[in-house]
Amino acid sequence: MVRRKGIYQIKIRNQQLICSFCQNNEFTHREVYLDRVTFNKDEKEKLTLQSFTCTSCGDIRLFQEKFRYDHSLQKHISIIEYTEVIKNEQNR
Ligand SMILES: [Zn+2]
Repeated sequence: MVRRKGIYQIKIRNQQLICSFCQNNEFTHREVYLDRVTFNKDEKEKLTLQSFTCTSCGDIRLFQEKFRYDHSLQKHISIIEYTEVIKNEQNR
């Protein structure tokens, strides 16, 4: 399991992620893995989800990471962008 330390502001497809309960825009992150059974019952699909927990009210949002081609950068980039929120500059 991957867990990013710190607090992030998140953009998904260039849209700022805002908590739908308290309008907070700061989240902690962790990555969760799920097994999803496909139509062929012998096969399981591994699903990786990015989990964002609101730092204010604790509501959890889950997103599946996808990649899109960015024409200006000429490469595939994640639809999810992380911007770390620095709470106290003196701790760096
Ligand atoms: Zn919230």
